Amino acid sequence: MAQQDDIVTLAYAKAIPGLVSLVGAGPGDADLLTVKALKCLQQADCILYDALVSEDILALIPAATEQILVGKRAGCHSATQSEINQLLITKAFTRRHVVRLKGGDPFIFGRGGEECLSLKAAGVRYQVVPGITAASGAAAYAGIPLTHRALARSVSFITGHSLDDDALDWQEYRSAQMTLVIYMGVEKAAVIAQRLIAAGRSAQTAAAFVANASRANQSVHACSLADIAAGKISNIPTPALLIVGDVTQLASEITWFEGRNQGCTKSNQQVN
Ligand code: SAH
Repeated sequence: MAQQDDIVTLAYAKAIPGLVSLVGAGPGDADLLTVKALKCLQQADCILYDALVSEDILALIPAATEQILVGKRAGCHSATQSEINQLLITKAFTRRHVVRLKGGDPFIFGRGGEECLSLKAAGVRYQVVPGITAASGAAAYAGIPLTHRALARSVSFITGHSLDDDALDWQEYRSAQMTLVIYMGVEKAAVIAQRLIAAGRSAQTAAAFVANASRANQSVHACSLADIAAGKISNIPTPALLIVGDVTQLASEITWFEGRNQGCTKSNQQVN
């Protein structure tokens, strides 16, 4: 993955590597970036970004900044994790400030921990800038409070990606009062729903897919666990989260987002 100029420059590499910032880009709406994340984007010499980072956020990067897509999308790997780790180290020794820009939050299904450990082993300084994870973005923009009096007392973030190893104990998620947010679960949604029902979660439990959360093309698909288990739900756009729990029924009442940015721009209107 190292470019020719890196190989040449590495021969004269700085003894002290640059700083690597692992930056969370949030779910898509550029206004959901933190101030610190925006500063990192404006000051970086080189940005390695994931496929999930939205166009609106990429548009905030100065045109002259070196930008490298290293991201993964289901079924299409641009670079392996160890190639990404290696590239981060190579860039750190040839640039002052390298940003590793990730969708959502770097420490929630973002492999940020692995990158920190790899940088540490190579003696590279790093910092982590948290981002709004897809669960929080989807919850807010789809009107689904993840906890709600009398409906949900806890929430779990689950990956639907590695179901085959059966590492998950679905019994843990049977409580009607626990909201489940399943990342990377669209492809295996039917199996997930079947396992939840088999573990004792009611088949009548309400659920919703939230696709493209916080983006102009956001969509919310309400259904039940039974519908998903029966394979009745298909053609969900990606990226999408599956939220399971009766809190998803509030989405029809708590509606404010109409697929465009609202409320964050300056207005001349007086608020009384
Ligand atoms: N670190 C990220 C998650 C990366 S895993 C975070 O904190 O959000 C990738 C999964 O996140 C996708 O498969 C999808 O399930 C979810 N996801 C990411 N962005 C999303 C979005 N804008 N809308 C819905 N789901 C999203």
